[in-house]
Amino acid sequence: MKKNESAYIFGPVPSRRLGRSLGVDVVPFKTCSYDCIYCQLGRTTNKTMERKEYASLKVIIDEIGNKLKNDPLPDYITISGSGEPTLYSELSSLIQGIKQMTEILVVVLTNGSLLWDKSVQKGICDADLVIPSLDAGDEAEFQCVNRPYTDISFEKMVRGLMEFRQVYNGALWLETFLLQGITAIEGSVKRIAAYAEKINPDKIQLNTVARPPAEDFAFAVSEERMSYFARMFGEKAEVIADYRNIHDEESFSVSREQVYTLLKRRPCSLEDIAFGLSIHRNEAIKHIQELMKEDKIKTETGKNSRFFKVI
Ligand code: SF4
Repeated sequence: MKKNESAYIFGPVPSRRLGRSLGVDVVPFKTCSYDCIYCQLGRTTNKTMERKEYASLKVIIDEIGNKLKNDPLPDYITISGSGEPTLYSELSSLIQGIKQMTEILVVVLTNGSLLWDKSVQKGICDADLVIPSLDAGDEAEFQCVNRPYTDISFEKMVRGLMEFRQVYNGALWLETFLLQGITAIEGSVKRIAAYAEKINPDKIQLNTVARPPAEDFAFAVSEERMSYFARMFGEKAEVIADYRNIHDEESFSVSREQVYTLLKRRPCSLEDIAFGLSIHRNEAIKHIQELMKEDKIKTETGKNSRFFKVI
């Protein structure tokens, strides 16, 4: 095992909106309160609202400490990963723990589905920046795009976003993911923009499909249309979609066989696969998930890292 490998920390990865961002992954793969049709990690395998300490707080804090000691410092520490981070019950202690170690800004990337819950609000109120999502303008679109856990209604979710804005003093950027033929239509964008105005974030960031989505009916919106829709949100809005890969899926995707061949040579962590094949970590996750489904590979957890190896 390499000295700096860890199970819950990834990067720093270059992020267009956050510079060099050190990722902290606090829930297991696809443990999420949503099952978004555009999710680049595939379909949700554990749709839940259960909040718990999915991973040891102490281990995560130790890993962050080691990373900060051994590697160049990132611009941000971003709590996000391969599921919904507000499902992690120890978020407040995690953020405070990071803040005792470093002055690097802490960001939480959340789907925003649980912000009506006071303990979730409290859990992330010490973050410097929170980026929640709002992808729909009514219940029908919410069910279609985000496919939430049964107990989460559109009204409850959007009320949570508004309430959180009232109690949170840090920076709030709202991310809206638009989909061709579903929400990228004037009526829908107008409704989303009206809610965005009520939420009153510091920035609104519009995104669309740039990597293979969970469902093949989730289509990207053209750059021109995205710019048009951005104007409907006013001056705070910007388009953040990464159009570099959008029409180039073939060259973007490394074949599953290449991942399998790499693992035949030696067991690898997720970081090894992503780095070794020069692909995004999320793409590596998708291939791993498929290979595990096919019973071709298995995972083993070492002291500080998860490894994948052929069966
Ligand atoms: S896009 Fe985010 S919120 Fe939606 S299913 Fe994927 S991990 Fe969950």
